Amino acid sequence: MTTTPRPIAFFDMKAQQALIRAEIDAGIARILDHGRFIQGPEVDAIEAKLAGFAGAAHAVGVSSGTDALQIAMMAEGIGPGDAVFLPAFTYTATAEVPLVLGATPVFVDVDPATFNLDLEDLARRVALVEKEGRLRPRAVIGVDLYGLPANWPAIEGLCEKHGMFALDDAAQAFGGALHGRRLGTFAHATALSFYPTKTLGCYGDGGAILTNDPERAELYGSLRTHGEGRSRYEVLRTGMNGRLDSIQAAILLAKMPLLEGELRARRQAAAWYQAALGGRVATPQVGPGAESAWGIYTILLPDAAARPRVQAAMQAAGVPSAVYYPKPLHHQPAYRAAHAAGIEAGAPPLPVSEDICQRCLSLPMHPYLTEGDVARVAAAVLGAL
Ligand SMILES: *Cc1c(COP(=O)(O)O)cnc(C)c1O
Repeated sequence: MTTTPRPIAFFDMKAQQALIRAEIDAGIARILDHGRFIQGPEVDAIEAKLAGFAGAAHAVGVSSGTDALQIAMMAEGIGPGDAVFLPAFTYTATAEVPLVLGATPVFVDVDPATFNLDLEDLARRVALVEKEGRLRPRAVIGVDLYGLPANWPAIEGLCEKHGMFALDDAAQAFGGALHGRRLGTFAHATALSFYPTKTLGCYGDGGAILTNDPERAELYGSLRTHGEGRSRYEVLRTGMNGRLDSIQAAILLAKMPLLEGELRARRQAAAWYQAALGGRVATPQVGPGAESAWGIYTILLPDAAARPRVQAAMQAAGVPSAVYYPKPLHHQPAYRAAHAAGIEAGAPPLPVSEDICQRCLSLPMHPYLTEGDVARVAAAVLGAL
């Protein structure tokens, strides 16, 4: 007799929901009763919890991770004439925001071991922009890709030296830590996304900005509400509609108590993957002192030709996979012109980002994977190599 193996989800929101469905239903019901759908008490409550979890002085709930990045940059007045340095290998939102504000993204290559900003390449490009003198080096957006913290002490050092704003795009990394300190206080501001598949996700769009700086926190609160002042109808600055709504805050409040345990379960799943795949394919490297939030689990295959073969074998075995990301941002049609405008003469190539895009493959990762699930995924990968 054959039994159908249990389906493996790439991300699993259902197993988690079953654990907290009653709290979620009750939280939504309370909001239906009190009627404060916008800026209700749930928003204040989740902001306090997020700040506490990350050890940050302030958390400001906003409408998405993208809006968190945008509000943080608007607060600095970043715009035309400003160069914003960010990795060429990341999700599109990181690059979109500087362009929306009229600034110029300058793509930086990534470190082949961590897939995060290569500090030498970053320093080189900052020097090139300075030397050309057309754009002002203004900000660095460090991304904690797949949940692994970027090299924040080094990024902070470089930003300090050049008077640049340091922004942490921790959309994939809430819960990650560096030298025992959770992400949230390394950069001047840290952007979180609560897109449903992130390590802490709501049931729609949501995000937050963490900071230790009270003046910045106040600006973020104003900018997310059309630039309002102390009274509701006083408009102090150009802002946007960027609020987190009460129902999404209630979902997050129901999920917060699970987060520590879920981060441990992600770590366990990563350890099972490492035991099964280490030495056979390139598995994620977590450097000394770093703790990944394991938002996404990504391996590097030996060559570009292997990826379609491995993905097909996985699909045949009923195992989902995904490619984050198939194209470096400087090759995206929307960003090509900006890339050419960032450093006009002698921009160094971005070989690591280009190579990783060809060979990366992301495997199922969520807190409800069993050791048996991971063994099945690993067997499907290894069988196709
Ligand atoms: C998800 C994500 C974002 C954007 O978050 P949204 O909430 O979807 O707007 C930004 N940066 C990175 C690296 C992400 O993974």
